[in-house]
Amino acid sequence: MIIKPMVRSNICLNSHPTGCATVVMRQIEYARKNLAASGEGSPKLVLVLGCSTGYGLASRIAASFGYGAATVGLSFEKAASQTKPGTPGYYNNLTFDREAAKQGLASVTLNGDAYSNDMKAQAIEALRKAAEQAGIPAKADLIIYSLASPVRTDPQSGIMYKSVIKPIGKSFSGNTVDMMNGNIIPAGAEPATDEEIAQTIKVMGGEDWELWMDALAKADVLSPQARTVAYTYLGPESSWAIYKNGTIGRAKEDLERACRDINKKHGNKIAGAWVSVNKALVTRASVVIPVIPFYVSCLFKVMKEKGIHEGCIEQIVRLFRERLYTAGASGDPRKTLVDGEGRIRIDDWEMREDVQKETAARMAGVTPETLESLTDLAGFKHDFLEAHGFDVEGIDYGAEVDPAGI
Ligand code: NAD
Repeated sequence: MIIKPMVRSNICLNSHPTGCATVVMRQIEYARKNLAASGEGSPKLVLVLGCSTGYGLASRIAASFGYGAATVGLSFEKAASQTKPGTPGYYNNLTFDREAAKQGLASVTLNGDAYSNDMKAQAIEALRKAAEQAGIPAKADLIIYSLASPVRTDPQSGIMYKSVIKPIGKSFSGNTVDMMNGNIIPAGAEPATDEEIAQTIKVMGGEDWELWMDALAKADVLSPQARTVAYTYLGPESSWAIYKNGTIGRAKEDLERACRDINKKHGNKIAGAWVSVNKALVTRASVVIPVIPFYVSCLFKVMKEKGIHEGCIEQIVRLFRERLYTAGASGDPRKTLVDGEGRIRIDDWEMREDVQKETAARMAGVTPETLESLTDLAGFKHDFLEAHGFDVEGIDYGAEVDPAGI
């Protein structure tokens, strides 16, 4: 079939198999070139929760193709059929496994609900299997927690919780951009109720990360060198009303609470837990947050002009090379570069004073007429389409493609 993008309100409803595969191949190439296989104390057996897209996919690619690690990846994706494309993550996982097999890199990919007890048990078995494939002890030394989900079913009670993106205390109004037609549109949200705040913390907070670490410790599959890293975002003041000080921010505060508790509980048996603050990027999860598309379009323009723009793979390669597996930090995790709150900051370039000042000025000055020239709306739209396998260089979108494979 011929597959063209179907986009409604900044949500892309389909994906292109060979486009997705090409984007994964490019990330693999970048990781290979930019990470030395023998990076200081680099990981050998890695578990990535949320492995199929965005930051999780980049993490798995960097560990595997950059450092040669055996990897287990878990995500929740929809498979393709003969008549309907799968989700982008489905094709990304297929490509990852195909390329890993070609390179003789051990990999096991699981599809299912990471919040469930069953998938935790399956992932533990998969770690043993991947270790056996690689001929190494079944002791994971890096666990990446990169889930982004709108819902979570509590494994004990069976209750399903839903997360919302809302401000707390007062209503929010700002601008967002419809990237397909370039219209600046007002985006507002009413304040969250206490119940909505609590539900969002249940979904996007740190409870499930703690359950994962407990399960891995109990099954005795953690190496004494194990590091676990979960991703968060802070962003500039212009987004705080909807992000940092809103429901998602509360959930991310809970993620930091969980990080401290994991260190208290397991810190004497593993190297430690960290929260890494990453840069704002265009992923399936981030485009639906009001104000973010507008902010990111302005931010990308400024960062590209300054030659410091990064995508997911560049961010994660820098996290590995300059934070986790550097000479000092590998031998002694206490030397990992962190901020005053103990967080790793790879949003450092985004948050630079000059970058923020210029981005804020653009956001304030943009009109519908200057949107194209003052912001990187084109780059934003490209990244968004690319995350679904569209607008990828070298792909003939007029050609027939088999949705069932790559
Ligand atoms: P994403 O949507 O690209 O990836 C989310 C992953 O979670 C996918 O692999 C998906 O399959 C998986 N997933 C969702 N529900 C699942 C479930 N129930 N079981 C198993 N897997 C499930 O998201 P992303 O933007 O890469 O975000 C990952 C993390 O990085 C989040 O914690 C996010 O807050 C953080 N972060 C994102 C940005 C950004 O701008 N995108 C910036 C900083 C931090």
